[in-house]
Amino acid sequence: MTPHTDRKTAPAIVLGCIADDFTGATDLANNLVRAGMRVVQAIGVPEGPLDTQADAVVVALKSRTIAPDEAVAQSLAALQWLRAQGAQQIYFKYCSTFDSTPAGNIGPVTDALMQALETRFTIATPAFPDNKRTVFKGYLFAGDVLLNESGMQDHPLTPMTDPNLVRVLQPQTRHKVGLVDYQAVAQGPDAIRARFAALQAQGVGIAIVDALANADLVTLGQALQGMPLVTAGSGVAIGLPQNFGIAPDAQAAALPPAAGLQAVVSGSCSVATNRQVAEFIASGRPALALDPLRIASGADVVGEALAWAGGRLASGPVLVYSTAEPAAVRAIQGRLGVEQAGAMVEDAIAGIARGLVQAGVRQLVVAGGETSGACVQALGIAQMRIGAQIDPGVPWCFATSDVVPEGLHITLKSGNFGTPDFFTKAFATP
Ligand code: ADP
Repeated sequence: MTPHTDRKTAPAIVLGCIADDFTGATDLANNLVRAGMRVVQAIGVPEGPLDTQADAVVVALKSRTIAPDEAVAQSLAALQWLRAQGAQQIYFKYCSTFDSTPAGNIGPVTDALMQALETRFTIATPAFPDNKRTVFKGYLFAGDVLLNESGMQDHPLTPMTDPNLVRVLQPQTRHKVGLVDYQAVAQGPDAIRARFAALQAQGVGIAIVDALANADLVTLGQALQGMPLVTAGSGVAIGLPQNFGIAPDAQAAALPPAAGLQAVVSGSCSVATNRQVAEFIASGRPALALDPLRIASGADVVGEALAWAGGRLASGPVLVYSTAEPAAVRAIQGRLGVEQAGAMVEDAIAGIARGLVQAGVRQLVVAGGETSGACVQALGIAQMRIGAQIDPGVPWCFATSDVVPEGLHITLKSGNFGTPDFFTKAFATP
């Protein structure tokens, strides 16, 4: 059988997702897997067809804060690819804190996808009660406080100063924005659909939807059956697989068996990661700290780290980290510049990750969102199958690439995710 016929016989996907950032894509994929879907995450728009069977694909873009035109172009390219794979419903995923500005990118991307899909109505809700994001009367809460009191009002790129999502979205879109409030949601799918129809009759094109509990998202999911486009955080995903006859099933998370050497690389300086590094060291396992000033001096830090790891890998997981406390990070940033320090450390860790895999590591934990992006790129990974979650939002993944044709188990942990024992627990999770 030629590869071409092989691909042609692969069943089509049912759900096509477009995520506006990388770790958000994984978060969404993780929710879909837990709801029973077999999911592949693609890094950027794939060049060829999907090469494995899946119910859903999440295309991870980096479009949250780029120019709206560019975000629209990338999202439309993703849409075209997903439709070519057979996607019956499209899911545009953004941040659960609705990160955007009056210029976009949630509104412009939604408008463009609606136009391309020739649909006149969609929803928008970042609600995900499991992650403490709830929407009531159109107002978004993060934990116990309104969005604009949560710290998000000071975000450097997308300051969120208004918690009312109808007001936040309206200036970003050509469509009239309305609200499906909790009264309708509490009454069930028929009441939600009736509200959709009433809003459309009033000329509304995008409806913010209230949700206070995960059960509301499951109810909402039923009302979304057949809607060509859904826009949301990752929460709404828990209610969609049921519409395609898919129920939670541990098989959805099945990956090839994990074997081979184990390593952790960490470029995250978040509070949770600092704790995880400390806990790994306290457990007596080998750990090597990278010195950003030595990287800046041109020393062969990658070669040194690989030589250090070489003799130790056979005895169990090793950790190579640049993780540091805020004061140390500020000192380095003061000397090297924030961006330059970040890029240099990312490059070094990505080179170490690649070298470790070339040395036989087949189970790799990466800590840090940006660090993950750099490592995935250095490893030549374009598509990952999503497996079981280690901690909420952080699943094991399996990928093949030119660097590792036989496949690599990899998990990408963004900053504040994971329990303190994450680095050791990960290797005990199937
Ligand atoms: P997180 O998910 O915790 O935000 P990221 O990987 O996204 O982690 O971001 C951390 C950034 O900090 C990266 O650019 C990384 O290269 C940089 N970095 C890592 N260690 C240090 C350090 N010791 N000093 C300065 N910058 C660092």
